[in-house]
Amino acid sequence: MKKYVCTTCGVQYPASSEEPKACPICEEERQYVNPDGQSWTTHDELISSGRYRNVIKQEEEGLYSITTTPEIGIGQTAYLVVEDGFITLWDCLTYLDDETVEFIQSLGGIDAIALSHPHYYSRQSDWAEVFDAPIYIHADDREWVMEPSERIHFWKGEEKQLKEGVTLHRLGGHFKGGAVLHWKNGNEGRGTLLTGDIIQVVQDRNWVSFMYSYPNLIPLPASKVEEMAQKTAGLSFNILYNAFHKVVRNDASKVVQQSAERYVKALEGKWFAT
Ligand SMILES: [Zn+2]
Ligand SMILES: [Zn+2]
Repeated sequence: MKKYVCTTCGVQYPASSEEPKACPICEEERQYVNPDGQSWTTHDELISSGRYRNVIKQEEEGLYSITTTPEIGIGQTAYLVVEDGFITLWDCLTYLDDETVEFIQSLGGIDAIALSHPHYYSRQSDWAEVFDAPIYIHADDREWVMEPSERIHFWKGEEKQLKEGVTLHRLGGHFKGGAVLHWKNGNEGRGTLLTGDIIQVVQDRNWVSFMYSYPNLIPLPASKVEEMAQKTAGLSFNILYNAFHKVVRNDASKVVQQSAERYVKALEGKWFAT
């Protein structure tokens, strides 16, 4: 029996004697099946290949990024938020080696694992076992959990506080349960927002964007983007990190509002003429 990992999205499936028939996450329009066909690996294969390592970088006081190199699956970056001794892992990675475990243990381990949306569920249940930590996923995305775990808490409603000053907010959009993490004391008290793909940092770091499907370029309705902007307007933050190590460094709250406005105008044909 092996726990197979989809090579395109990096999500792990429960132990089985044969490869799963398909990856429902990749077969859906917000992801894609590799044009060469569905393929699988296992975490043991990734470790024994000796090809991979996790690069851990301190981004600011109390915030660390973790990125696997070379890329596995979607290639996301996960973050560790340290707030008054409470450590949250924001989003998750497929690859977990001894060096990564030792580093995280040296910080104090993990108290909570919180996910923005299903594309980063990766090997969350195994990380939860290793660090003896609960996983927080919005209940609206329950159907996308491929490897069930007793450690998963499905939270409901619009927000969930993990620790004073560390709160998940459901913005929806890309996924119905799509969540962001607001860290009130981050960025030297000016506030930090971790967004996964729910709010996307674009090439021009003075702007962000919002999509239903990134690989297939399917936008969100104007009403949904307005709703996401409204929900974000109540949060105080100066800096914003996405899932690909891209950062809006200043006035990020204003950047989100202006970007939502531009997006809606573009959808309504009021931003440009071509
Ligand atoms: Zn997949
Ligand atoms: Zn995504």
